[in-house]
Amino acid sequence: MTPPVAVSARSDVGAVRHVNEDSYLAEDPLFLVADGMGGHARGELASRTAIESLNRTLRSGGLPTPDEVITAIDEANAAVRALSGADESGAAVAGTTLTGIVRVRVPELAAEQWMVVNVGDSRVYRWDGRSLTRLTVDHSAVQELVDAGLITEAQAEVHPERNVITRALGAEDFVDTDSELLPEQDRDTFLICSDGLTRELDDGRIAELLALGPADPAEVLVEAAKDAGGHDNITVIVIESVTGDDAPASTDTRDRAVGREAEDTQPRE
Ligand code: MN
Repeated sequence: MTPPVAVSARSDVGAVRHVNEDSYLAEDPLFLVADGMGGHARGELASRTAIESLNRTLRSGGLPTPDEVITAIDEANAAVRALSGADESGAAVAGTTLTGIVRVRVPELAAEQWMVVNVGDSRVYRWDGRSLTRLTVDHSAVQELVDAGLITEAQAEVHPERNVITRALGAEDFVDTDSELLPEQDRDTFLICSDGLTRELDDGRIAELLALGPADPAEVLVEAAKDAGGHDNITVIVIESVTGDDAPASTDTRDRAVGREAEDTQPRE
């Protein structure tokens, strides 16, 4: 059964930059953010190429399998690589992060799962109504320093190399994609975002804003990041899936309700 997924998505150039090099796709079963990099508008092209490649490969039929998602990311990597090869200078290399959630079918389990994927320093979080849990690990120079115990998370936020990422689509012939499968729960809420959000708002501030229960959480988060400086492009997707006892009335029930309403509004004779 396909759970209903409510989507709030927004991408904004921010308050400082002139070009939005982020791209995203938020159409079930694909919820992906790509943050492009490279001079001469190549970042924009790289992120768009990656997203378009994945959309072409994975939205053709039903839910993909995890293997199909990984293969599609490999193909997206090749497509971004092809952009770099087209540059005659040979110096400008286009690359992009790729991070998000794909609803997949797992043949061995005969069940749907959420598949979290990550290359680079965009992020996926889970929101449980009270607290925010980061599901991805940044592939960045500062994350390596944090992991080695050399600097703290707080120092990483202001470190001069905080923009240096250690994995990207387009960087190498083979891309090493982090992935994780999560079982669907009665109620799942995920936040997917580019670093333009997380460099302006810390996790505590993001949680405060989500706790307000805004109707359009992506817009609220993007506006807050712009108010906080908006130094980078900002892309946010919030998806909410509700199944089981918490699910809204099924389509059948709604159809019956509509039928009754139609009867009630018959003109009097
Ligand atoms: Mn960015």
